[in-house]
Amino acid sequence: MILGCHVQMKAPEYLLGSVKEALSYGADACMVYTGAPQNTVRKPISLLKVRDAEKLMAENGLPMDRMIVHAPYIINPANSVKQEVAELSVSFLQTEIQRVHEIGAKHLVLHPGAYTVTDLHTGIQTIIHQLNLVDVPSDVTIDLETMSGKGSEVGFRFEQLAVILGGLKQKERYGVCLDTCHISDAGYDLTHFDDVLDEFDHIIGLARLHVIHLNDSKNERGMRKDRHANIGLGTIGFEILHQIAVNPRTGKIAKILETPYINKKPPYSIEIEMLKSGKFDVKKLEL
Ligand code: ZN
Ligand code: FE
Ligand code: FE
Repeated sequence: MILGCHVQMKAPEYLLGSVKEALSYGADACMVYTGAPQNTVRKPISLLKVRDAEKLMAENGLPMDRMIVHAPYIINPANSVKQEVAELSVSFLQTEIQRVHEIGAKHLVLHPGAYTVTDLHTGIQTIIHQLNLVDVPSDVTIDLETMSGKGSEVGFRFEQLAVILGGLKQKERYGVCLDTCHISDAGYDLTHFDDVLDEFDHIIGLARLHVIHLNDSKNERGMRKDRHANIGLGTIGFEILHQIAVNPRTGKIAKILETPYINKKPPYSIEIEMLKSGKFDVKKLEL
């Protein structure tokens, strides 16, 4: 079971600090933003202590594909209304891909975007058009995240992601990041995860599943809200999330926790320990 979590990347240790943080939780994967998710301000790669981070990962038996990068939400390749947003999406996504390549990470998780005032079909076609303007190097994949369907988000059904993937010129450079909170909110029933995987396999192909975001949800299935809950404290529940974590068909896929802090403290070491042991204890989450 490869379990990781979202970690910070901040001065002075940057990525080295990110890896140290992940290791301190007992994680064997991590996910970072290369800068603030809401803006395009980025530190030069030379400052990020990339090689030190890589060395520490190697010492702990972690290959670089265990360091996952999440693209900032300001990238909205589904926006066909504001030309400047569309152009920024493409140019910034291209620099972000380059950063992932320079860091040596393998996976860039990307939200497909939101169509704002147009419609789902236009949104999907816009995403295809915009992504076909970027060039993805052979050592990186862009992993489109399954969304909750909040607002005008695109990508809340596997069928929508399949259409996007089918329209891309560099098809083999793309995959999917499946977020358990998002797909539950989108209406998928996670009670029988194998059925969900079968559906995914039928529509997209299981080989395209590159990353899992393992989160509980604060909302009932189908509510299309996207509010993450701590493992076992939401509507999906510990049993189902544990079944997903140990499912042998996804054994080689990193599962990343993006669960909220509790009383300003990271819950990850406890959530990881409970998922690894298979034993849920609500008291342990009273941080
Ligand atoms: Zn995401
Ligand atoms: Fe996610
Ligand atoms: Fe989310």
